[in-house]
Amino acid sequence: MTDTAQANATEAPGAGDDSELIVELKTWLGENWDPDLTVGEWWERLGSSGWGVPTWPVEWYGKGLSRSEGVLVQQTIAAYGALPAPGGLGLLLAGPTITVHGSDEQKQRYLRDIVTGKQGWCQLFSEPGAGSDLAGLQTRAVKDGDEWIVNGQKVWTSGGQVADLGMLIARTDPDQPKHAGITYFVIDMKQPGVEVVPLREMTGRALFNEVFLTDARVADDTILGGLNNGWRVANTTLMFERSGLGAGGGSSAVSLATPGTIQGDLDRPAGEFVRTGGRAGSSAGTMFGAGAAGLAKRARDAGRGDEPALRQKLMKLHSLSEVARFNNLRLKAAMAAGKDIPGLPNIAKLSMSEIVRQSRDLGLEIAGPYGTLHAYTSEGRAALDAATGMPGLAGVTEAALFAQGPPIYGGTDQVQRNIIGERILGLPKEPGFDKNMPFKDLPKNG
Ligand SMILES: Cc1cc2nc3c(=O)[nH]c(=O)nc-3n(C[C@H](O)[C@H](O)[C@H](O)COP(=O)(O)OP(=O)(O)OC[C@H]3O[C@@H](n4cnc5c(N)ncnc54)[C@H](O)[C@@H]3O)c2cc1C
Repeated sequence: MTDTAQANATEAPGAGDDSELIVELKTWLGENWDPDLTVGEWWERLGSSGWGVPTWPVEWYGKGLSRSEGVLVQQTIAAYGALPAPGGLGLLLAGPTITVHGSDEQKQRYLRDIVTGKQGWCQLFSEPGAGSDLAGLQTRAVKDGDEWIVNGQKVWTSGGQVADLGMLIARTDPDQPKHAGITYFVIDMKQPGVEVVPLREMTGRALFNEVFLTDARVADDTILGGLNNGWRVANTTLMFERSGLGAGGGSSAVSLATPGTIQGDLDRPAGEFVRTGGRAGSSAGTMFGAGAAGLAKRARDAGRGDEPALRQKLMKLHSLSEVARFNNLRLKAAMAAGKDIPGLPNIAKLSMSEIVRQSRDLGLEIAGPYGTLHAYTSEGRAALDAATGMPGLAGVTEAALFAQGPPIYGGTDQVQRNIIGERILGLPKEPGFDKNMPFKDLPKNG
């Protein structure tokens, strides 16, 4: 990488941009950003103004901007030193899914609270016996008047412990083939029938959970996209997950402050989160977010910025990330024009997995033997920095430990390849007898 390219890559995003849009945003920030506002008050202002979700339609709290303009807006807000829009699965998955499949009444009910961070969301898809084979899910919802009674178990539920609402898929008609009898509900997580049990990962964090549903209740009017049409709606969510992750949405899933009523961040001063870099932000997210430019800086700081082999690998990572970014822009442009680029969300997800793997390997290569050390607490991280002289080393090792996750979530890499092979390239499908048989008659595990 040339020095100029390095300088450009590390330059503050949005810096020096004096387009009308950015001038308007900075003026708005000057008049509205106040670190003494609570997080809830600030997100209310940001969400109501359209700057929180600038790529969403104007009639639904956005500004109808393009994807690249949206990225510039986010970067400008961060560079200004204001708290960014709420992250999490509400904004990343639930909102876009509701925009596509929700009735106007459902959009009114949910979208505003997503945009202003008033409610946190989780995704209740995977089960102990249904991950890659998601349509094999066994959680049942049975009609009871205007409500449904839900029983079953979900697992790997990211953010379930701080979610007010869940995107739930459950079986509503076992007499239909397995893809047909599924319905997509919005479930209230704060009810007696929902038990959330955190799972600790090797990073030391407990980002995801088991969720036990025992006679939990969901109202009929929370169904998104129609009864027994949940497979289609779930695929919309997964499409947004794959394309969002491919575009670096993994880091937008990580929020400086946590949306929703459970964590309690809404009542705390917004400035506190900006100053401290967030209470629960994953340093892995930060490390992946830093990308090739962040790793190049680490290489220079370690006195290895001139090593040709290392520079080559950094350039490879930078190129891969740029291709992923451009592909995502292509997809967004196609979608905005009512078109599609079949297979691109799957490719985006695969390339994100590769970026994460290359980032992991480069981070550890630059850290050298210190890459075998890790710390789990902020005190431990400070001690590690002091002992090794490598600031932020725990971010590198956490990214390395977390790197096994992205190739799994949102559908594993193998599943993405299957989809590309079967649905895009027209290769023969895997042999299966379960497409047309009623779900209740299929052999099941356990
Ligand atoms: C960090 C993280 C966060 C997550 N967050 C959520 C969440 O918020 N909500 C949620 O619902 N889920 C979540 N998940 C779960 C995730 O979606 C599943 O782990 C994933 O779909 C894989 O399912 P599984 O773990 O049951 O593995 P399995 O499906 O049992 O797969 C095991 C292995 O077999 C391979 N395999 C399976 N079937 C095939 C096939 N047909 N062809 C080739 N290979 C195959 C897989 O690729 C994998 O390597 C999360 C997972 C992770 C790691």
